[in-house]
Amino acid sequence: MTPLTYDVVVIGGGMAGFTSALYLTGQGYKVAIISKGDPVCCLSTGCIDVLSSDKNPLDGIPGLSRDHPYHLVGKKGITDALNFFKRIMQDTPIPYSGTPRKNRTILTPIGTAKTTCLVPMTMAGSETESDTYIHVISFKGLKDFFPSYITSGRRNIRFSLYDAGTSSTIGIATLFEDKSFRREFISWIQNLELPHGKVAFPAVLGIRNPLKILTEISDQIGREIFEIPTLPPSIPGLRLFRTLKSSFIKSGGDNYWGKVIASVESQGDQIEAVTLKSPGRPSRVPGKAFILSTGSFVSGGLYATRNTVKETVFDLPVFVPGTRKDWFKEDFFQAGHAIETAGIKVDSSFRPVNTRFGNLFVSGSILSHAEIMKNHCGHGLAIATGFRAAKICEEFLS
Ligand SMILES: Cc1cc2nc3c(=O)[nH]c(=O)nc-3n(C[C@H](O)[C@H](O)[C@H](O)COP(=O)(O)OP(=O)(O)OC[C@H]3O[C@@H](n4cnc5c(N)ncnc54)[C@H](O)[C@@H]3O)c2cc1C
Repeated sequence: MTPLTYDVVVIGGGMAGFTSALYLTGQGYKVAIISKGDPVCCLSTGCIDVLSSDKNPLDGIPGLSRDHPYHLVGKKGITDALNFFKRIMQDTPIPYSGTPRKNRTILTPIGTAKTTCLVPMTMAGSETESDTYIHVISFKGLKDFFPSYITSGRRNIRFSLYDAGTSSTIGIATLFEDKSFRREFISWIQNLELPHGKVAFPAVLGIRNPLKILTEISDQIGREIFEIPTLPPSIPGLRLFRTLKSSFIKSGGDNYWGKVIASVESQGDQIEAVTLKSPGRPSRVPGKAFILSTGSFVSGGLYATRNTVKETVFDLPVFVPGTRKDWFKEDFFQAGHAIETAGIKVDSSFRPVNTRFGNLFVSGSILSHAEIMKNHCGHGLAIATGFRAAKICEEFLS
């Protein structure tokens, strides 16, 4: 299966890595993705946060810190990247709704409003402000979704519970793939004789074809329907990851999943290959160019030791905000945590600074100064920088 040399080897199969890889296979390049595991995307709502501070997410960019990676991509670059993402998703079972220039709010599983930008079509009808009647359907025993929180404090909203015989999000989503389950479920809703308005579900309407399932239920009950994401891990995030992975394979890319890199071969300023740990002889994956998208601490692209932070594939220099006493806090997920600025600093060509490698590009949440939790720019940043790194890589190859 391995060609003599890949044009591009992408390391890390998350939003950033898949964006780069799909752009490059689309341009006819031979691309491999190496990933040691599933990405953070599987925990996410599947919604694409770009920047939550303003009505138009792009208006918030000038207010970001001077070193934020969005400045290297620019407003046009971010718009092009998000439009590219929308185009890829358009031909899949999970098309997206929205425009890069407009934030919107969607309902959360605890009844608050989340600001985001692009959303799966199944969430497009989410209402957070209007007085439209909403009937929330939940499932007996389902954790990670709180209909009583959603209905409390809001007028014109009620909920009902269905006993699906299982209470996990994945278990219920799997049941929705089954036609006879859907038939029984639909006849139960029809018997509720709901008032006019919308019907909301936790995001469990199937795994492979949620929009088709939602449309079928909507047509049969005669009501507009939307999904509300559950707490992580969340089915829409899993749908997004699986869809990107299968789109990449369909586009002709090679996939080394569950693989750990054992060593890196380089000559002068060029990386020539990485070798993968395997039970027998290590396998060698050669490339003309490499894109590093291994994510931050959660995925293991960065690793904190007692006194410093390491990059786990090439041992690149990592920007760290001062000494440990400046960045250590018990609660890692606290927005504005100083360690959120840690990561790889790149120049305007997305090459890591202070390294000798000329054919290595870096993208996604491993970049320094992204501050994803503070800025709410997770998938947006991964898509924008993944797209930009791929375009620069293309120029390098030509
Ligand atoms: C709980 C949670 C919920 C979130 N919800 C949202 C949301 O709703 N919307 C949003 O926009 N953002 C959300 N985010 C942020 C967003 O998910 C991430 O910022 C974004 O997906 C990061 O993408 P990435 O490609 O940079 O990295 P990752 O998703 O971290 O992917 C990196 C990949 O690299 C692989 N890898 C790591 N080390 C190595 C190695 N040494 N060798 C090979 N492979 C390696 C990993 O296995 C992984 O597959 C959420 C984050 C969390 C933690």
